[in-house]
Amino acid sequence: MLDADFFRRWMAVMAHAVEREADRLTELDSAIGDADHGANMQRGFAAVLTAVGKEEPETPGGVLTLAGRQLISTVGGASGPLYGTLLRRTGKALGDAASVAPVQLVEALRAGVAAVAQLGGAAAGDKTMLDALEPAVEALGESLGESFADAAEAADQGALATVPMQARKGRASYLGERSVGHQDPGATSSALLFAALAEAAAEGAR
Ligand code: ADP
Ligand code: MG
Repeated sequence: MLDADFFRRWMAVMAHAVEREADRLTELDSAIGDADHGANMQRGFAAVLTAVGKEEPETPGGVLTLAGRQLISTVGGASGPLYGTLLRRTGKALGDAASVAPVQLVEALRAGVAAVAQLGGAAAGDKTMLDALEPAVEALGESLGESFADAAEAADQGALATVPMQARKGRASYLGERSVGHQDPGATSSALLFAALAEAAAEGAR
């Protein structure tokens, strides 16, 4: 079972990952966007870390809905509302149980990813964060929520697969064909989110 501690650890590992990778995310966004994705993610997840430390939510759903609210209120770019919706919707689906089974997390993440697709009007293949999120959740589902490492690997592959795609949503779509040949920044940060999930699980097992 996954408890609130696990979800707090996930958010903390993610905050450190975006801190560490901020320059790379911004570099990717400077090629096909406006060079703020690293700063956006850093600001957002720093706020998540502060809020989670202060409010000490006691349930998995509480941690994720609080995190989602912080991302929505602190990040100006498109990624704030999108990641905020992902975490808030996932948290809402987890309800107020003190701990959740891995399969429940899979179902909740599916709802979260569907909400991102609905909000952004994007689908897999449009060169967005969904190209990492969807395969990650699918891989997690295939292992019945047991293999976070498989999900992280699938997210990584999904992010890499955005390189030859032409962007159809978001700022990068303004570039048309010139968006081809670059990895999508949001898909890259989504891969970090699943790597953080795998790391949080590995830490918990130690
Ligand atoms: P902005 O584009 O406002 O500067 P960011 O740079 O923080 O915001 O985030 C850009 C990322 O957001 C993109 O790389 C892409 O993955 C994601 N994104 C943008 N628009 C959409 C959308 N409509 N649906 C899903 N993801 C999107
Ligand atoms: Mg940007």
